[in-house]
Amino acid sequence: MNSSEIRDKFLSFFESKGHTRVRSSSLIPGNDPTLLFTNSGMVQFKDVFLGQDKRSYTRATTAQRSVRAGGKHNDLENVGYTARHHTFFEMLGNFSFGDYFKKDAIHYAWELLTSVYGLPKDKLTVTVYQEDDEAYEIWKNEIGVPVERIIRIGDNKGARYASDNFWQMADTGPCGPCTEIFYDHGPEIWGGPPGSPDEDGDRFIEIWNLVFMQFNKDEAGVLHPLPKPCVDTGMGLERLSAVLQHVHSNYEIDTFQNLIKAAARETGCTDLENNSLRVIADHIRCAGFLIVDGIIPGNEGRGYVLRRITRRALRHGHKLGQSQPFFYKLVADLVKEMGGAYPELAEVAERVAQVLKTEEERFGETLEHGMKILEAALVKDGKNLDGETAFTLYDTYGFPLDLTADICRERNVVLDEAGFNAAMERQRQTARAAGKFKMATAIEYSGDKTKFVGYDQLQHEAKVV
Ligand code: ATP
Ligand code: MG
Ligand code: MG
Ligand code: MG
Repeated sequence: MNSSEIRDKFLSFFESKGHTRVRSSSLIPGNDPTLLFTNSGMVQFKDVFLGQDKRSYTRATTAQRSVRAGGKHNDLENVGYTARHHTFFEMLGNFSFGDYFKKDAIHYAWELLTSVYGLPKDKLTVTVYQEDDEAYEIWKNEIGVPVERIIRIGDNKGARYASDNFWQMADTGPCGPCTEIFYDHGPEIWGGPPGSPDEDGDRFIEIWNLVFMQFNKDEAGVLHPLPKPCVDTGMGLERLSAVLQHVHSNYEIDTFQNLIKAAARETGCTDLENNSLRVIADHIRCAGFLIVDGIIPGNEGRGYVLRRITRRALRHGHKLGQSQPFFYKLVADLVKEMGGAYPELAEVAERVAQVLKTEEERFGETLEHGMKILEAALVKDGKNLDGETAFTLYDTYGFPLDLTADICRERNVVLDEAGFNAAMERQRQTARAAGKFKMATAIEYSGDKTKFVGYDQLQHEAKVV
């Protein structure tokens, strides 16, 4: 089954269960300052969950384009390092707005996975929220999952990969306990079941999250019950395709293989397993769709995220020996892969390519030179990169800090972030003293993750080791 058929089977299944098929919304959430990008299927229904908006239906199903490259859900630093994370992916979902709840949600999911898609039951493991006896009992008594494959998980605060069975869209907003379904890709792949010390491996891959939306979290962290309990589920199409196409990594599925081949064609790389090709294939989807939804590369907020993603892709092209603009040529391949499901992409493809080409030409002028400076610094000290050099790369050569950090990570080099911040601060003060200070960027570096703190501000925290 190819990815299009898999997507369609999902939507048709829920249509047959009385759900209305609703189109994907834009990656830019409408009028919502708490969110950088649409990071899941529920975003377009947020107000419906909150009881502030009514629809003509109480059940919906979508294939939602989603981006996790900033804000509460940020997977940019995972791309190229795990088999299952993308910056851009499609989330398949079914929703109940005060209609059905836990029982039906679980039964539907099981029926679809095991009867429609035909997945072997013994390959599936489920998790429930620590205190959710109701969900536990449904899995055990109604579905018949053996108790050794029903795992209770609490809310995990902080760890990058650890399972977390209390789902939140952002730091505020709709949230609730969830139950998740994992697929076991087999003992030859490293990793343990959810909740185990080895859970961050890629053996047991989370495919579907069923969230029982019950609360609205306010800024003080207080949970207010929603007017009616709701259901919000999300399953990554790419992860499901991997399972159904009998491959392990998302990068081996049809959509990605075609984009990887296109990236190979444009960079001259002949090794289709090369990690840089995977990153480029991921990033063309993300950059392409962000431009479709009206973002252009810039120095602030969403535009800066797009710039960072694009420049990371260009650096990977450079690593493969391509010093000419190439990234924009992949737009045509992206249209071939995804234009059918997303006609809006095909409609503006030319503009998307043009925007990327302009960005490539701009960065192309400094990338080569910047890389030489970086290499020279690394030759001097193969273990550390000083903050001054990182700042020069950022300020003069247009290397976002996370780009430099990514190169350091690849080479096991420690980047001196404190030194970078000090250099940045020094320059601010000099500029302020000269009376011409202007915020050059919206990224502030501190701590350990990228946090969205408003439209124009992000806090970065790539732990660089
Ligand atoms: P993980 O633990 O693997 O990072 P998650 O718990 O953050 O996933 P959810 O927020 O529960 O993911 O999202 C629902 C579903 O969307 C996941 O079960 C998965 O199938 C898919 N998904 C989440 N993040 C990504 C991503 N970065 N790339 C591809 N698919 C994803
Ligand atoms: Mg995640
Ligand atoms: Mg998870
Ligand atoms: Mg999850």
